[in-house]
Amino acid sequence: MALVVQKYGGSSVADTESVKRVAHRIVGTQRAGDDVVVVVSAMGDTTDELVDMAGEITDSPPQREMDILLTAGERISMSLLAMAIHELGASAMSFTGQQAGLITDDVYGHAKILAVAPERIKAALRDGHIAIIAGFQGVHVATNDVTTLGRGGSDTTAVALAAGLEADVCEIYTDVDGVFTADPRIAPRARKIGRITYEEMLELAASGAKVVAERAAEYARRYHVPLHVRSSFSCEEGTWILGSYDEGDAPVEAPIISGVAHDNSQAKITVVGVPDVPGMAARIFEVVADAGVNLDMIVQNVSADASGLTDISFTLPADQGDTAMSAIYAVQGEIGYGRRLYNDQIGKLSLVGAGMKTSPGVSARFFGALRDAGINIEMISTSEIRISVVTRQDQLATGVEAIHTAFGLDAKQIEAVVYAGTGR
Ligand code: ADP
Ligand code: ASP
Ligand code: MG
Repeated sequence: MALVVQKYGGSSVADTESVKRVAHRIVGTQRAGDDVVVVVSAMGDTTDELVDMAGEITDSPPQREMDILLTAGERISMSLLAMAIHELGASAMSFTGQQAGLITDDVYGHAKILAVAPERIKAALRDGHIAIIAGFQGVHVATNDVTTLGRGGSDTTAVALAAGLEADVCEIYTDVDGVFTADPRIAPRARKIGRITYEEMLELAASGAKVVAERAAEYARRYHVPLHVRSSFSCEEGTWILGSYDEGDAPVEAPIISGVAHDNSQAKITVVGVPDVPGMAARIFEVVADAGVNLDMIVQNVSADASGLTDISFTLPADQGDTAMSAIYAVQGEIGYGRRLYNDQIGKLSLVGAGMKTSPGVSARFFGALRDAGINIEMISTSEIRISVVTRQDQLATGVEAIHTAFGLDAKQIEAVVYAGTGR
């Protein structure tokens, strides 16, 4: 008998029919002899709709209230799913994040899990129930306030529970058959990856491949939780996310490239005419960090000798654009820069692969493919196993396909199926 944690994303429980369909799968797992813990997301695009509703009332909702609002989405799906399981003659109990023992800090909207104390879940399993847990939420240890873990956070809940319960596997059920070499919504020739390492998945997720949330991949790596990403709409074997290839389980050598990721949720800020003297970049990034903004790529141009001025550009999540622009405006007098430019019509395109560090010529082929596709590059950054560039947003999809083809990743026959979801 195994202990299985199954996470169902919003597109897998988009309506009551889907809830019933998922209930069948869950009960089937239990009847096959396993203990089952289920983490469920809000139905369909509920979370986005709740965010939109708050936006119709205020531009700056109090963060505490926002978290209470958003946790409501997962509470709807968890209770409906428990009812659907009862209808099938099995027994299920649903739990909020708080009841399930997900203890977090107090950073509303992006809370970090500090501890997992799943005593009630263990008791429910002992009593023969299926335990259903609302994803993406926890409780702040001191105030007892409800917190959310950030968008896509149900994946993190599932991995944290799998680690806390020492589950045999954490299955992430979604609307595609696994992790592909690119997002099948924009690269129909993407191929399903059979097995990938935590490091590669982490890098893909950090570059925008939202099929697994970045923090979930990080958590899984830290606690060695075996992840199986698969579709709730088919019975296909999905993608296994495990430790490095030399840890023993894979007979094959790691592929050079694991995939292409894209992200169109970023924006770019350029601070023009910054005095080229020590301390200026530090000051800009201090105020941006103090405002809680997560920076990604940074570029500083060579200063024009005559003027002694330089330009500094960086990318950040577009939803933090206003915050960062205001923070920089507040120090214009102190720093004495010229002006600020803001552009949210950008896209980030990344190529990820652990084999990159030992294979020459990857960069040349990457930039050559973008040139041949007529795509201009605005910024570049690299890590040991990733190359990323910023392009115009309307060229991003073309770029993904061009890179996918250039690295020989295209499937001979189309194998990717997108079963559901709006891609929102
Ligand atoms: P869920 O609601 O199940 O959490 P998400 O929408 O968060 O689902 O993630 C699944 C989606 O991730 C897919 O529908 C797909 O469009 C997108 N995606 C992006 N990159 C990839 C990739 N490399 N492989 C598979 N899916 C990807
Ligand atoms: N419902 C939340 C979101 O849409 C959490 C999740 O689905 O993982 O971000
Ligand atoms: Mg998701």
